[in-house]
Amino acid sequence: MTEECVARRVEINGIVQGVGFRPFVYKLANRYNLKGKVANTSSGVFIHIEGNKQHIEFFCRDISEKKPPLAHITEIDFFDELVNNYQDFTIVDSREQSVMTTLISPDVSVCDDCRHELFDLNDRRFQYPFINCTNCGPRYTIIADIPYDRPQTSMKHFKMCPLCQAEYDDPANRRFHAQPNACEDCGPHVRLFDNARQKITTPNPIEKTATLLKQGCIIAVKGLGGFHLAVDAENDDAVTRLRRRKHREAKPLAIMSYDVERIRKYAQVEQKEEKLLTSSQRPIVLLKKKEPNSIAKAVAPRNCYFGAMLPYTPLHYLLLSRGFTALVMTSGNLREEPIVIDNDDAFERLSDIADYFLIHNRDIYLRSDDSIVRKTAGATRVIRRSRGYVPVPVFLKNKVPPILACGAELKNTICLTKANKAFVSQHIGDLENPATYDFFELTIRHMKLILDIQPEIIAFDLHPDYLSSRYAQEQKDIKKVQVQHHHAHIVSAMAENRIDGPVIGLSFDGAGYGTDGAIWGGEILITDIEKFSRTAHFAYLPMPGSAAAIKEPWRMAVSYLYDAFGEKFWDLDLPLLKAIGTNKVKIMVDMVNKKINAPFTSSLGRLFDGIASIAGIRNHVLFEGQAAMELEMLASDQVAGIYDYEWETTDSHKILTRPIIQGVVKDMLQGIHPSVISRKFHQTLIRLFAELCEVIREESGLNKVVLSGGVFQNSILLTGLIKALEEAKFNVYSHTLVPPNDGGISLGQAMVAAAVVDT
Ligand code: ZN
Ligand code: ZN
Ligand code: FE
Repeated sequence: MTEECVARRVEINGIVQGVGFRPFVYKLANRYNLKGKVANTSSGVFIHIEGNKQHIEFFCRDISEKKPPLAHITEIDFFDELVNNYQDFTIVDSREQSVMTTLISPDVSVCDDCRHELFDLNDRRFQYPFINCTNCGPRYTIIADIPYDRPQTSMKHFKMCPLCQAEYDDPANRRFHAQPNACEDCGPHVRLFDNARQKITTPNPIEKTATLLKQGCIIAVKGLGGFHLAVDAENDDAVTRLRRRKHREAKPLAIMSYDVERIRKYAQVEQKEEKLLTSSQRPIVLLKKKEPNSIAKAVAPRNCYFGAMLPYTPLHYLLLSRGFTALVMTSGNLREEPIVIDNDDAFERLSDIADYFLIHNRDIYLRSDDSIVRKTAGATRVIRRSRGYVPVPVFLKNKVPPILACGAELKNTICLTKANKAFVSQHIGDLENPATYDFFELTIRHMKLILDIQPEIIAFDLHPDYLSSRYAQEQKDIKKVQVQHHHAHIVSAMAENRIDGPVIGLSFDGAGYGTDGAIWGGEILITDIEKFSRTAHFAYLPMPGSAAAIKEPWRMAVSYLYDAFGEKFWDLDLPLLKAIGTNKVKIMVDMVNKKINAPFTSSLGRLFDGIASIAGIRNHVLFEGQAAMELEMLASDQVAGIYDYEWETTDSHKILTRPIIQGVVKDMLQGIHPSVISRKFHQTLIRLFAELCEVIREESGLNKVVLSGGVFQNSILLTGLIKALEEAKFNVYSHTLVPPNDGGISLGQAMVAAAVVDT
């Protein structure tokens, strides 16, 4: 035998611990008859491998190509080594070593292997609702501290039985070092209670829950990242009752179905959407409704989409396998408070909503809402980034110092940075109630701990009254950097696309505090990471009643109409003027004229609201962005022409709303259907922005356009504008990793702070 024997060292960084990586390497080495060892290190995984040269080539190739589903390799390096004459291949038990810089895996939906066992009568975990392995199961939500090891998780209360322990100790087993490993004999259990906290005696709580759901009951179900409130999605009465009790009048409710076939009964599922639905992250995916369908109207009223997802825990599978087309699975919370994660808390806070509680005794340490995504303009767009995605970092182009960015007010997230990684937190929520603020502080503490980050810089919004800004101001002995809201939006998109400035940044949303104290929201900014200049924006208009104008779009409509028509607007035969009545409208006009509680805004979000009101779609909203969303949903499919548009140029370009409003009113008076008005309005914006970008390109020589801000959740605008800009030969960048809405702000803040401190 003259086979050449060589040795090599392999160093791997990324998410490679707690995801079955070492057993995978062990099996791979055995397959190619190679010797050596594999160990966890402080930064990832280390392999020494020796044997046949060609086999080593195969081995090295397979590491990247066949890695376990949860592993995420960020760096892999190969080095030649001296042959050490190892007799076998071993896994070095290195749990005593520091794993501080390694990455923690997100929670992962139950894998195919576990799912087969779950429904296999002969398997010892048949119908066990907590089945998991190294390829699946809870992670982020059960970790209290690092290193990621059973005693540091909420599984610490469960001592493994001999069978589970044997699996856990066997390097060749799928459950080798699977920290949440458990079975019926040794692991967590489900129990069913009524809402007086009386235990329901039943041999099968999940079976019983399904029966109750079929009878129309509302059940609080403890899941992975928090409680859901579940009802049969085909039962109109039950869904309506849930809405009433939860005080959630109109916002769409998420639904869950057993498999894609069942989802196809009520929604269109394209191939790429199916991939998203079945991905290990198992997000809620927005899918075009099929009409007619059997889902209760109250699930997603005045919306062309259903937010649907597949089961992601074994418990969900067991529940959904009992004959439902779909269950409503909406966050277990009251109004906009954080979702409930704790059993006692559930009985206290959800007892007015739920008839029964299906709970279990595996604690959730950190809540994580369901993530929401959609396919738009050829890419995955994240609307809410939480369970399944967090804490996978955004990998940055350059290394940055440790920074804590506090986010904005609505849809708050925080961001912590370490070297070339930015960890954006799970969705925290709207920081307007004490419970959400507590969760904000808890998330900061928790993420600092499990990511081992001591921030040297704190970044926060310019708005002095945001609770996140106040939190930042209270911190001591730390460098503080305030970041303008729309600047942060654009930089967040630049960071995830790994591009440098300057760029033409279109930053469109509902509201953000401007450097002049006005409420910005329709901004075109020449943006560098560390600075920006405001090259164009919508002309300022008063917002009568300030925050009240957000809840009541008719107030903005009056402001736009008064601006466009002056006193003549009284004569316009518009449904909104009749519906609101002369007296109330007059008060608005007075506020505008006397400049009382009518701050100036350049917000595009408000323009959407105003158009929705003028077009007779909605004068009051029940949730943020409702009017704008309904305006989008209503848009007809056919091309319908555009309205006149205009901007004035002085030191910057000011986009006038007047010609657009006049066009919309003219159509309304001629009885043109709102669906056509909506389409024309969208097309107008697309043409306007594309043309304005060309003017700015001539002035500045810039060819990169970056799109960010909550308005870009609008699929018609995003798709149309990307197309128009690309046809004009711009390089266009938009979000695919973090949300375009304020959920992405913290990432931008962190990047700006790093650049500002650096210069
Ligand atoms: Zn599994
Ligand atoms: Zn066991
Ligand atoms: Fe914003």
